[in-house]
Amino acid sequence: MLVDSHCHLDFPEIAGQLDSVLALMRENQVERALCVSVTLEDFPRVRSVAETYPHIHASVGVHPDYEKVDAVSIAELLALADHPRVVAIGETGLDYFRLKGDLEWQRERFRTHIRAARECGKPLIIHTRAAAADTLRIMREEGADKAGGVMHCFTESAEVAQAAMDLGFYISFSGIVTFKNAKDIKAVAVAVPIESLLVETDSPYLAPVPFRGRTNQPGYVKHVAEEIARLKGLDFTEVCRKTTDNFYNLFNSIKQ
Ligand SMILES: [Zn+2]
Ligand SMILES: [Zn+2]
Repeated sequence: MLVDSHCHLDFPEIAGQLDSVLALMRENQVERALCVSVTLEDFPRVRSVAETYPHIHASVGVHPDYEKVDAVSIAELLALADHPRVVAIGETGLDYFRLKGDLEWQRERFRTHIRAARECGKPLIIHTRAAAADTLRIMREEGADKAGGVMHCFTESAEVAQAAMDLGFYISFSGIVTFKNAKDIKAVAVAVPIESLLVETDSPYLAPVPFRGRTNQPGYVKHVAEEIARLKGLDFTEVCRKTTDNFYNLFNSIKQ
């Protein structure tokens, strides 16, 4: 059995094909998926998927790439997170690749999410791109280790992974790890111990080989786990078991 620790089933690219998406999950023995919120406007759709399907869970948060949305408060996040299907806060974090200029609002938004996660005791889903130093600094300043969480769709160095693991965070790999030209990420996947590793699709984006370029879906997380097994010289079943255990340890409000 496998789990997809990060997907966006409410996005229009796959929202209309949920029947076939859920069927492929069953076929590939992907027992659960975490559907991750990117704005408060989209959150009701994320929550509704999680309310409809017992094996789909939800998070609440505002992604750093969404600039033109209202500022989010700790109180709002706490109110929305107070729901049995909401198991995490995020995705949140910093992205200096997509957006340029004065990004103080992004850092403030990130701090708000960390404070909310600490307050409600739910783990953080952190997105970081071209902003590793500031991400780690803010995590330390805000005591993110007290909430715990995951660095999702990880594309940074082994040193950044180690710094996040030192704060008790898991490192999650997406379909990027299957790409032929992703030598650096493959090396990081070798360096991260299986005890700290999660797998995800980030669907509908980043479909793994052999589906690269197509619409991604949670069933394809199997191909991410297969590549992790190959890279680390582990049995596929071992990777499935360990990453699934890690998922339940982190998102511990989910009843197995
Ligand atoms: Zn992300
Ligand atoms: Zn995402």
